[in-house]
Amino acid sequence: MDTFVVVGGDAAGMSAASKAKRDDPSLDVVVFERGEWVSYGACGLPYYVKGEIQSLEELVSVTPEQFREERDIDLRTGHDVVDIDTDEQTVTATHADGETVQPYDRLLVATGAAAVEPPIEGLDREGVYTLGSMSDGNDLREYVARARAEGDLEQPDEGPACQYLKSCAGPVGVVGGGYIGVEMVEALAANSFEVHLFQRGERILKPFGPDIADTVLEHIRDQGVVVHLDAAVTELAGGDTVGAVVTEAERVPVDMALVGTGVRPRTALAEAAGVECGETGAIATDSYRETNVPDVYAAGDCAEATHVVTGDPAYVPLALTANRHGRAVGATVAGTPTEGGGVAGTAAVKSFDVEASRTGLFPEAAEAAGFDPISRTITTKSRAGYYPEGGKIDVTLVADRGTGRVLGGGLVSAYGEGAVHRSHALVGAVTEGVTVDELANYDLAYAPPFNTTWDPVLTAAKVLGGDR
Ligand SMILES: Cc1cc2nc3c(=O)[nH]c(=O)nc-3n(C[C@H](O)[C@H](O)[C@H](O)COP(=O)(O)OP(=O)(O)OC[C@H]3O[C@@H](n4cnc5c(N)ncnc54)[C@H](O)[C@@H]3O)c2cc1C
Repeated sequence: MDTFVVVGGDAAGMSAASKAKRDDPSLDVVVFERGEWVSYGACGLPYYVKGEIQSLEELVSVTPEQFREERDIDLRTGHDVVDIDTDEQTVTATHADGETVQPYDRLLVATGAAAVEPPIEGLDREGVYTLGSMSDGNDLREYVARARAEGDLEQPDEGPACQYLKSCAGPVGVVGGGYIGVEMVEALAANSFEVHLFQRGERILKPFGPDIADTVLEHIRDQGVVVHLDAAVTELAGGDTVGAVVTEAERVPVDMALVGTGVRPRTALAEAAGVECGETGAIATDSYRETNVPDVYAAGDCAEATHVVTGDPAYVPLALTANRHGRAVGATVAGTPTEGGGVAGTAAVKSFDVEASRTGLFPEAAEAAGFDPISRTITTKSRAGYYPEGGKIDVTLVADRGTGRVLGGGLVSAYGEGAVHRSHALVGAVTEGVTVDELANYDLAYAPPFNTTWDPVLTAAKVLGGDR
């Protein structure tokens, strides 16, 4: 009986294990996970901290017992894999009772990503949090509950977040204006904290392009979040406990700081075994996710993928890719070689009542990839003008001037006008490499409650087509 061993029991790892066992029940599938949680949705953690989701268990899609009893997967939680021997084809895991050496025929490294530790003094102070794991989510939720219980929530407060909710605790600082930072300012403001967001550069949400990012920025400022731009944080100052966020320009008192400055692929275990990383710093694989070491695969946040526009390696650590590539590896080891497909860098974010999506290449990246990009952002009605509901929606579209090929774009809207779901046509266009004129002729669905006759994406394509 062949043994398929998986290191890492979340999106990529459990997708692979489940698919392999389903397609080939004769496979012996062994999963090592160093923590106690498997198959959890870290993406839901901001909403758990916010209080919209009541228990961490709700974020788990399949429990360890279900994997073991219903899917016949040998899942070993509390097992930290510390060594891979590619000559002997074994992995060594440490656990409460000692050490296990497990032989494999095929191995998947699905070790995910870890939070970047930025060069900021005071990261080890009490009251400094990150949000990468279930236990991080638990710690933050406990902090929120404690602060609310101890807090001055009855006192009327003039702090800015009080425009969003009537009373305030805190202040608290969020360091990093990426998607986790932007989601977390909502979660904290909704719990009555006065929230300060610190962003090193001049814009939050850089991958979404300036127009979309500025719309999101305006919205979260309107909700009372104090956004500090061009504010590289140098220190989280205080005694044992954090007391202030320090930038070159100012010192802002805080009771708590959440640091969300990005992630880096967890590659050390694989690299020590001779597995090579690519230029992005993540594990390099072929299109079947096999690494340079035969029978060793890598998928998810620890690995590279191929960008659908450039054809180059890209590092886009997001959930769908982890699930898709994990599943593809599972199918491959079960006997059906399966490519997991490329990535377009598609992403979505919501903060308060604003939502945004992006896909493909924006001008800077397009130029770096050798295109001659043109870009336009249009603002249109989101639904038929005469329909009683609706608002506006912004669409950014990027194309190559010479060929007209759609390279990327994004949408932003507020109050339920559906930017994210409307972006799927754009993802199709970017992935298939169609031109703006071809996109403008897409036969998209239309009815007054949903959009305008020319859907906003089609209008953007017409306008950009005219600009060429
Ligand atoms: C707060 C938050 C919000 C997010 N929101 C979104 C979102 O809205 N949309 C989106 O697409 N993505 C989102 N993501 C990213 C998404 O969660 C990841 O892309 C996805 O979880 C990656 O899955 P993975 O299996 O590759 O890695 P992980 O989920 O990181 O899992 C890796 C697992 O490997 C285990 N492990 C590591 N090393 C070892 C070892 N040596 N031995 C044993 N086990 C080991 C770890 O404990 C971990 O459980 C979010 C992430 C966070 C933290």
